[in-house]
Amino acid sequence: MHAFRRMKIAGIFLALLLILSGCSSNAAPATSSTKVDESKQAQASEQQAAATIKDVASTTVVPGQKLRISYIDVGQGDSILIQIPNGKNVLIDAGNNGDANTITSYLKKQSVSKLDIVIATHPHEDHIGSMNTVINTFDIGQVIMPKKDSTTQTYKALITAIQNKGLKITEAKAGLKLDLGPEVNALLIAPNSVSYEDVNNYSAVLKLSYGTNTFLFEGDAQEQSENEMINAGFNLKADVLKVGHHGSNTSSSSAFLAKVQPKFAVISVGKGNSYGHPAKVTIDHLTNIGAKVFRTDISGTIVAESDGTNITINAIATEVQPRAPTPAVSAAPAPVAAVVTAPAPTPVTSAVVTPSPAPKQTNQDVTVFITKTGKKYHIDGCRSLSKSKIPISLSEAQSKGYTPCSICNPPQ
Ligand SMILES: [Zn+2]
Ligand SMILES: [Zn+2]
Repeated sequence: MHAFRRMKIAGIFLALLLILSGCSSNAAPATSSTKVDESKQAQASEQQAAATIKDVASTTVVPGQKLRISYIDVGQGDSILIQIPNGKNVLIDAGNNGDANTITSYLKKQSVSKLDIVIATHPHEDHIGSMNTVINTFDIGQVIMPKKDSTTQTYKALITAIQNKGLKITEAKAGLKLDLGPEVNALLIAPNSVSYEDVNNYSAVLKLSYGTNTFLFEGDAQEQSENEMINAGFNLKADVLKVGHHGSNTSSSSAFLAKVQPKFAVISVGKGNSYGHPAKVTIDHLTNIGAKVFRTDISGTIVAESDGTNITINAIATEVQPRAPTPAVSAAPAPVAAVVTAPAPTPVTSAVVTPSPAPKQTNQDVTVFITKTGKKYHIDGCRSLSKSKIPISLSEAQSKGYTPCSICNPPQ
């Protein structure tokens, strides 16, 4: 410790000497002051340095390389797989206790063997329910979770799994930069406080960029945490928002949504849940600011793909903006994929493009996919389509006796 500090001080001294000697030849005073600032920064603790970062910068994209985000349908809960073009994988949350098989088999079908980072946003069962199984099943790099204990068996099982694997826990807090390589930038922007009354507010909130596309994952963060993110000065603007707390009315405040301005909003929520999630007011808020809303209870697993500029979502938009001010936005649900181009030429609504804007689109006209031999129909991206993938209209698929796949939950 002492030796380390001495080395640091010696290093700073050396840096100063180098700067001073540099000054004598050509450096202007401004340059030397910048350099001194840099060494001062090195002196500052890692946390303080990280706290100065208020946004994720855009990244350089290798053409043809896609970022893939799966909002896995785990009913009333969260589980999100992020696959980075460099081969690294992140899992945010792991659903309920009963979702272990759904999650592990989905990950295996995506050829995931290692999760470089797992984030347990907060210790509620619908987020950490199957995290112990995930940790036992896959090679795990880093575990990130907030400093908040719980007395539940689910939490104890998670801690046991972490300990048995010899893993350490990195504390989730605003300003923590995630190391996932130069392809993406990833930053935690919450929690901003050390203690909360509502456990949901401990939620680790991640902002991620790939190329110029940005993604925000809110966990169950409530209005209090949303206000803290605003007050801390983070740039909250994001193309895709994983809506807080399953779309409840205690999250997604108008002030927060005004900062995020999502083009797409994903709500991870269970069909017929007893909480009444998502709240109608939340959906109205989101659609009123021009976001296309996607729900796992309607679309099943939702997959968003980004090439660094465009985002494609292969699910049916479940609500559209009622005002529909531009002809580009059809009054009917968008078929299969919605595409956005960033940076948007004009605000929000006109950036949303429906690929085939047939005037009287209904669910019956949506394109689904069948295989050469199977009897099920699927949405684009379903793992069952790995061998063959034949596009077919939903109505035709149904008339030919195909039934919906239980894994990807295509429209019915
Ligand atoms: Zn939850
Ligand atoms: Zn929660």
